[in-house]
Amino acid sequence: MFNQRIDTAPVLEAFAAGGECPLCALRDQTEAGYLDQFLGGSVMEPAMRVLVNEKGFCARHFSRLYAANNHLGVALMAHTHLKDTITALEKRWTQPRKGGLFPTRRRQEPGLPAKTCALCDRLDATMDRYVKTTVWLWKNDARFRERFNGSLGLCVAHAEAVIAASDGAMREAMVKLELDNLRRVEKELEWFTLKFDYRNHDKPWGESKDALPRAIQKLAGVNPQGKGD
Ligand SMILES: [Zn+2]
Ligand SMILES: [Zn+2]
Repeated sequence: MFNQRIDTAPVLEAFAAGGECPLCALRDQTEAGYLDQFLGGSVMEPAMRVLVNEKGFCARHFSRLYAANNHLGVALMAHTHLKDTITALEKRWTQPRKGGLFPTRRRQEPGLPAKTCALCDRLDATMDRYVKTTVWLWKNDARFRERFNGSLGLCVAHAEAVIAASDGAMREAMVKLELDNLRRVEKELEWFTLKFDYRNHDKPWGESKDALPRAIQKLAGVNPQGKGD
């Protein structure tokens, strides 16, 4: 049985706020909190330091950390990770090649640049928990279930995560909810494109004025207008 001690409040709040994907909003909020933590004192805790040394950050998160203007904090993390990276690279580049001209591809070793990210790992693990929390709430909280079933659905990636984590009636409800809402956004986006036709110039926008950013949110899990980023 799913661990009931898990914090349901963030999921309840995200779905109460609505939007094209409450789980994207929750991810953005969680990511912002983790960026603050990595920039703050907690990065000096031994467990965190070992993780950062080994994994480093992906391009997106290094850029976000750099933009936050705590250059000393980021430099300390980058420096220790760079030292670990040099050690790993030296080992990899000076080992004799095996397998002749076309060696079998070696498994990615930890510490090599841009392949791993301490922040992505944490964020993915937390979002995995929030997806499970969403499924647990749907099964155990009638008010949440009602709100969820009346919502605008999720982005495609989060819908797939929820569908993969659920079964039976919930899976059925989620599939219907998501397809209905993808079709809704598709129609709104179509009207958005038709509004560019001069013959439709004076016709009402309906819900279509911001159909493009909402369609991108559904497809790519990101609000291109930058809200929450
Ligand atoms: Zn999403
Ligand atoms: Zn990352």
